[in-house]
Amino acid sequence: MRVCTTAGEMRAASRASERPLALVPTMGALHAGHLALVGHAQTIAATVAASIFVNPLQFAPGEDFARYPRAFADDCARFAAAGVALLYAPEAEAMYPPDFAVRVEPGSVGDGYEGALRPGHFTGVATVVLKLVNACEPDVLVMGQKDAQQLAVLARMLRDLDLPTRIDIVPTMRADDGLALSSRNAYLTPDERLAAPGLYRALCIVRDGLRAGAERAPTLARARAAIEPPLRETYLDVVDPLTFVPCERFATPALVIGSASIGTTRLLDNIPVPD
Ligand code: AMP
Repeated sequence: MRVCTTAGEMRAASRASERPLALVPTMGALHAGHLALVGHAQTIAATVAASIFVNPLQFAPGEDFARYPRAFADDCARFAAAGVALLYAPEAEAMYPPDFAVRVEPGSVGDGYEGALRPGHFTGVATVVLKLVNACEPDVLVMGQKDAQQLAVLARMLRDLDLPTRIDIVPTMRADDGLALSSRNAYLTPDERLAAPGLYRALCIVRDGLRAGAERAPTLARARAAIEPPLRETYLDVVDPLTFVPCERFATPALVIGSASIGTTRLLDNIPVPD
């Protein structure tokens, strides 16, 4: 696996690689969900590239940027073993020199839910992903369903800015009890970890209600009751997966989204409900 640390080096390596090239962007601290993205990339691309960059621009002051788990040596070994040929791992100082000024403004898709809770988050995400796409020039970005609003923001950015890169979406990898894998699960105490799957159970109640043609308000109320202390609901809703506007009709197709906090950690999850 070749490791590149500058945009110029990465672009040259990408241009010298066999096509199609798929890029798996990550913030590192890899788990089986990230490796599922690499597995998918392998099935569709001649060259699999990945990136590791804990992007300071998408963390608000007071969030967990400083304590976000970092495991660069282990991550490199896992990516190499999984068949990643090119790794882009830039330094923050090179990505954002002191006079860095331009940002990508994601528009209304990024306004609600995570965007409302984390002001500036999707601006940071869209800006860094545009920089990664410019450095790596991938044919395909391989990303997880886990971060559904991020997917909606980035799909819109690629479309609105005429970028010739598509996104392939990989289903969310879960633990046996349903908890979506996440690097932030490392923050959970054993007791918090036991309670954490309550969020997924709540999403399943809404999904089952949608499929059965149940009514919106009582279904959401039953689902909220599944989010028991020490879990606390942040939001639970049914939205259009492309716009993140709440669905007026409680019917499929739709995306069930939810977030809950536990201790100092906030969990994020969703279930797509196709027709
Ligand atoms: P992160 O390192 O958390 O920024 O995530 C990097 C990529 O991995 C994003 O496209 C995420 O959506 C994806 N991802 C994170 N968790 C999972 C999971 N449990 N299953 C599948 N993909 C995931």
